[in-house]
This record gives sequence, structure tokens and C-alpha cells, in this order.
Amino acid sequence: MKILVTGGAGFIGSAVIRYIIDNTEDSVINLDKLTYAGNLESLKSVEHSDRYAFEHVDICNRTELDRVFLMHKPDAVMHLAAESHVDRSITGPSDFIQTNIVGTYNLLEAAREYWNALADDAKKAFRFHHISTDEVYGDLPHPDEQEGELPLFTEQTSYAPSSPYSASKASSDHLVRAWLRTYGFPTLVTNCSNNYGPFHFPEKLIPLVILNALEGKVLPIYGKGDQIRDWLFVEDHARALYKVVTKGVVGETYNIGGHNEKQNIEVVQTICSILDTLVPKNTKYAEQITYVTDRPGHDRRYAIDSTKMSAELNWTPIETFETGLRKTIEWYLTNQKWCKNVQDGSYQRERLGEINS
Ligand code: NAD
Repeated sequence: MKILVTGGAGFIGSAVIRYIIDNTEDSVINLDKLTYAGNLESLKSVEHSDRYAFEHVDICNRTELDRVFLMHKPDAVMHLAAESHVDRSITGPSDFIQTNIVGTYNLLEAAREYWNALADDAKKAFRFHHISTDEVYGDLPHPDEQEGELPLFTEQTSYAPSSPYSASKASSDHLVRAWLRTYGFPTLVTNCSNNYGPFHFPEKLIPLVILNALEGKVLPIYGKGDQIRDWLFVEDHARALYKVVTKGVVGETYNIGGHNEKQNIEVVQTICSILDTLVPKNTKYAEQITYVTDRPGHDRRYAIDSTKMSAELNWTPIETFETGLRKTIEWYLTNQKWCKNVQDGSYQRERLGEINS
């Protein structure tokens, strides 16, 4: 198979490309605009493969998308390109609307035009896999608010996004669903929980805390730090996505989760205690924890029911939170050069997403 991966220079996209090149015979075309979040250094291990090609293209540029489809003739698209940081979407929603909604529309139309012209067999085999988030579902009851067994997000959960980011992703999911229903365009959608792992841009909680801790900076906790996320190791996600694009049923949605519900404060405390053993110093890293004002509209709890992924596609995560987090911390400790290079000077891990007026 020849797979066009959009956003392949980002955190999850680069994990998907490394997974495909290292574990399959398939070829990959990485289409990426290279925003602040995209970095080709994350693909150094595969860049010389004759099954890898890079196209520096913005998904909002329809002419360029048409050229890429005609030139590379992919058998499938895995669409990961997006603006992905909730805090940035609060400060400036415009790029989220452009890339996540208008860009997805452009990509759907370019892909559909290309698909329409394919011969019958190729047309039948073609897949458009849209990668989305569990944040489109809004938030779930928190143990503070409800006793007993708490609900999980399933593929039937109604959409109720809270942030400009999740609203833009929800919009793109709706476009994909409409292209399936209206045009018979062969789409699949996955909604995944919070990922963590190597090559994660240091604006997100886990890499930010690791790097701030090592530099003796404060470890900011939003609100009380009791928000719950379901953490999934990025390499488990990449393996799940490949299963969906190769074995998933057209028209279906699959929820992908890590079975790892943790409060943010627990995540930060665990990072601190692993660092206490790996890089000991005179004081405990947890002393750097500082509570700051909460994110506006902050969702309280996400948790995924991934029964469908395990029952229908025989996928379960390999890493526990403890093994995955240790691997992640060890990766950041040995890849300080990557961390320095991806922070281009315009972002110094400052607080983002506060509303001042
Ligand atoms: P990321 O921010 O690390 O990477 C996004 C990539 O998209 C970057 O390489 C960037 O250069 C590229 N990009 C941005 N705008 C583009 C445009 N207009 N044209 C072409 N390329 C563009 O994001 P990520 O964490 O790797 O997330 C990938 C996808 O997975 C996103 O769609 C996100 O919504 C979804 N997702 C992420 C998580 C998570 O925890 N990170 C969880 C669930 C779903």
C-alpha cells in the first residue's frame, strides 16, 4: 500500500510513519506544512528509506493537494494534520478553524476527486482515515460529582465539544461523516484519548513537566489538578491506527484509549518520583509543583471505552502508564538536542490560553 499521511512531522504522525516504515512493506508520503509543531528531525530514522517521501504542503492549498494526489497516487489517506493544542486555540482560534475545518474540507474534496477517477478495484480498496480526538465528546462526570461506576465515551456518545480546538475537530468529524453518507466516499474515523511518548512538543503537560523539572523551573498545575485524562502511549496509538486503516470497516468509528485514567496531579507527581530516582538532586522535584489558575472551560474527565477496538480489530495497548511514562522520561533525558531544536525561540514554555479581557 501507498499511504498519504498528513501531519506526519507532528507527534502522532511521526510515530505512525516510523511504525509503517519499520514494521510493514508499505510506502508513505508525508504531507506537512511544518508549523511550529511539525519537525522533520522526528523522522531522521526513516528519512533515507526508499519507501518514504516528504511533501511540504498546507492542506488549505487545494492546487498543491491535487498535485500530490496525481503525482503519488495513494491507496489510502491517514489525516492527522491539525492544530492540536487547546491552550493555543483559546488564545487564537483562527488557525484551528482554517486548518482543522477548511483544511479537512479541502483534503476531502481533493481526495474525492482523485478517488472518483480511479479504476473500479482501486476505488473499492481506497480508504480515507480521519484521526480525531475524544475531546469532541465534551467531558464526563468526575468521581467528585457522581458515585459508583462512572460512564465512559463510546462510539455512540453525543458530541458536545468545549474548546475552540475540540469544536473544530468535531466540525471536521461531521464533514467526514457527511462525505461518507452523501458521496459514498470510503471514510473511517478514530477518536483517541490523550497520547504521550517520545517526540512530543514541549507545550503539552508531560514533556513540559519533564523539561521544566530538569531545568529547576515551576511545574504548573491548572486549578486543583484533579482533571482526569485517559493516557495512551503514542506507539500503541500508531499500531491501532494502522489496524484501522488496513482492517477497519468503511463507515465505522473506533474509539481508542489507554485504560489509564489519571488525575493531572498524579501524572506530575509520578514524573517527579521517576526523576527523583533517575536524576537525583538535593531537593525533591515535587517541590517545584505550583498551582495556577485553571484553563477556561477546562473539561474535568475523559475516559474511553475501547471495547470495539479490542473485539473487532484485536487491538489492546501494550504499555501500562508506568512503563510508558518511564520510557518517555528516559527518551527526553537522552534527546535534549531534539528538545532544544524544536523550540525555535518564539516559545519558551510560557503559559498559554489565559483570557485577559
Ligand atoms: P501535532 O500538533 O504534534 O502535529 C500536527 C502536525 O500537523 C504538525 O506536523 C503540523 O506541522 C501539521 N500541520 C498543521 N497544520 C497543517 C496544515 N494546514 N497543513 C499541513 N500540515 C499541517 O499534533 P498531534 O498531537 O500529532 O495530533 C495529530 C492528530 O491527532 C490531530 O488531528 C489531533 O487532533 C489528533 N489527536 C491528538 C491527540 C493527542 O493527545 N496529541 C489525541 C487524540 C487525537
